[in-house]
Amino acid sequence: MRGLMMDRPLLISTILDHAASVFHDREIVTRTVEGPIHRETYAGVANRSKQLANALTDLGIGQGDRVATIAWNTNRHVELYYGVSGMGAVIHTINPRLHPAQMAFVINHAEARILCVDLTFAPLVAKLIDQLPKVERVIYLTDRANMPADALDNGLCYEDLLAAQSTDYRWPEFDENTASALCYTSGTTGDPKGVLYSHRATVLHAFGFSLPSAVPMAESDAMLPVVPQFHVLAWGIPYAAAMNGTKLVMPGPGLDGASLTQLMRDEEVTITAGVPTIWHGLLAHWRQTGETVPSLKRVIIGGSAAPRSMIEAFQDEFGITVLHAWGMTEMSPLGTVSLLKAGMESADADKRFGKLAKQGRPVYGVEMKIVDEHDRPLPHDGTAFGALKVRGPWIASGYYRLDHSDNHDTDGWFDTGDVATMDDDAYMQITDRKKDLIKSGGEWISSIDLENAAMGHPAIAQAAVIGIPDEKWDERPLLAVVKTADATVDADAVRTYLSEKVAKWWLPEQIVFVEALPIGATGKVLKTKLRAAYADGSLSGEGGA
Ligand code: AMP
Repeated sequence: MRGLMMDRPLLISTILDHAASVFHDREIVTRTVEGPIHRETYAGVANRSKQLANALTDLGIGQGDRVATIAWNTNRHVELYYGVSGMGAVIHTINPRLHPAQMAFVINHAEARILCVDLTFAPLVAKLIDQLPKVERVIYLTDRANMPADALDNGLCYEDLLAAQSTDYRWPEFDENTASALCYTSGTTGDPKGVLYSHRATVLHAFGFSLPSAVPMAESDAMLPVVPQFHVLAWGIPYAAAMNGTKLVMPGPGLDGASLTQLMRDEEVTITAGVPTIWHGLLAHWRQTGETVPSLKRVIIGGSAAPRSMIEAFQDEFGITVLHAWGMTEMSPLGTVSLLKAGMESADADKRFGKLAKQGRPVYGVEMKIVDEHDRPLPHDGTAFGALKVRGPWIASGYYRLDHSDNHDTDGWFDTGDVATMDDDAYMQITDRKKDLIKSGGEWISSIDLENAAMGHPAIAQAAVIGIPDEKWDERPLLAVVKTADATVDADAVRTYLSEKVAKWWLPEQIVFVEALPIGATGKVLKTKLRAAYADGSLSGEGGA
């Protein structure tokens, strides 16, 4: 017997319609690329998204066409999210930190017809355009007065396009499984792979994301996503915020500690989200200047492991709760969030931070399992580790224009490529990416655990561990560290410190002090580069001081 419930499609346009009618005067505040602060309301964004849909229709864009963006977090980029997907076209966000050849690859692979760019990227597009045969028009995300000198001859001005259009537009209704957005994974080897999101997945993800057991976002909150809109749709925050009437504060290109702090203070931001690299910078800025953000209550950290020392610093020095989250492009991206289990609030600090430093429990909608090399389930005892597999309605079932995916099992599970443990409270902890685990004398060493232990040392700002070949043990760990400003520490001191935190056989074979770690397009340490540097002899030696 079928239920007697209405079958209304879960469309992204319904989120914006809801925000515009229920939270019409809640704001989206942007530090613009041009400089000034711009204020818009959800009602305003809804009108402008409709003007955009009318303009794109006039340009010949229809259902399923790809409209690409190379842009920062701004109200205009939010309008593109809603306007493009709302009309049934597909928004394709591009990471400007990719190598230009990779950028050309993804734009061509996606066969984007229109490219929308912030002023920052106008010179890049001028250089790249000859390699983009499918791109018909470039839209500069600015007004007439700020159009760039090197704008292409047939380049269009975003504000002119909108101004010429009416706000009269009815979002079309279509199947909720229609494609809405396209992001490419930041694969460190091979070509990037396209993840094609659907309306249904995105709406369900926004529900799941903003649950009290995940990343609660209320109307009274002001959220500043540092995570870029070109990285997994800013973790879906622009959808979850509109669904809940949360004020959005968009930092544009101003991602340094001083700019972020000022914007957060001015707009009384209560919650923010980004990768650990950003928070290293912000914490250093706060410590240096004595500035803080009194309104800030929660920081969501994901994309790479949040070191326990960082979680403790936010809590103990600044009274800010860290929500450690894990996910990936293929998962829209949210998989787990580390919130304290009920009853643990009064547990001792060691137990609490031990739990919070794990990647957390699955959000409703995401099923998870860890398995051994024969695909047999492993116990949830917090010790056994294996391949982490997931399934759920906002997890990719394959890759765009690829017939085969090695990561997708025939029984409907997706192999994340991560290796993890799960404990009896259902907290998952990432041990490593499969390819980063170190096998020493037949036993595994977790590079993440070793990095976290090293980053607990007050003189160490950042740490990365790679496996290096060893005749006797197969592989041994090499620890590359960046010192905190003005700190003096040497390899012996680091080793002595680590010997109290990890097993003796985990102690790094080599400790190398470096000026900076190689960081990739999504803010993660590029271990492939470290390995290459080791192989060519440019990463070696002990030392310090
Ligand atoms: P991406 O698709 O670029 O978002 O990368 C996803 C990968 O980043 C995951 O498969 C993990 O390896 C890693 N990752 C994301 N969040 C975390 C986290 N909280 N801790 C450790 N690794 C993470």
